[in-house]
Amino acid sequence: MDYEREREAMVRQLRRMGIRDERVLAAIAKIPRERFVRDEDRQIAYGDHALGIAEGQTISQPYVVARMTELLEVESDHHVLEVGTGSGYQAAVLGELARDVVSVERHAALAEQARDLLNELGYRNVQVVTGDASAGYESGAPYDRILVTAASPAISPELVRQCAADGRIVAPVGDEEMQQLVVRRPSGQESRHGAVKFVPLRGQAGFRH
Ligand code: SAM
Repeated sequence: MDYEREREAMVRQLRRMGIRDERVLAAIAKIPRERFVRDEDRQIAYGDHALGIAEGQTISQPYVVARMTELLEVESDHHVLEVGTGSGYQAAVLGELARDVVSVERHAALAEQARDLLNELGYRNVQVVTGDASAGYESGAPYDRILVTAASPAISPELVRQCAADGRIVAPVGDEEMQQLVVRRPSGQESRHGAVKFVPLRGQAGFRH
């Protein structure tokens, strides 16, 4: 399997689908997505779909990763929080763009696997933490950018408080069936960017079972 060609084809498709941010496309063009999926899924790692990972969770669809990253408008001096490490793929994309990234995952086994892989791939600027970040991760605040990659009932006030005044938060907000991609600024300004479907955010400020 020629993963490099697969990756180039995926980037061409992302362009066709309307992704315009060259920095985002360049980051995606560098990252070996096949390393972030289960061994048996490597051959289909570059299809435009989400895939299952351990603990009943998912690695998001490439278009959604690209679109959310584009909406986040990450700059090279930014300190970024990701809620929901999952496979670590999105954290790697953020690691390519930001100064540093704190990514929090509630499943210890996923956090450990992502930490090891990101380390092996040389992402020294990405820190993976195990815990419930539904209300953010106070000890790293304030963040220039916050990305939530699990379906959220709302953007919690704690998350807004942990975001820099000129920062932005991107999150899928809605119910457990369907969400809207929301961009929120701490000033209260908000925009919506289409429907998505994510696995639920759990924990203190997430969905109850
Ligand atoms: N960004 C991930 C990637 O690139 O593979 C995909 C994330 S997956 C769609 C959502 C992740 O959020 C799951 O791994 C899930 O365990 C995690 N999660 C759910 N609730 C959480 C919480 N309260 N704190 C931290 N992680 C949470």
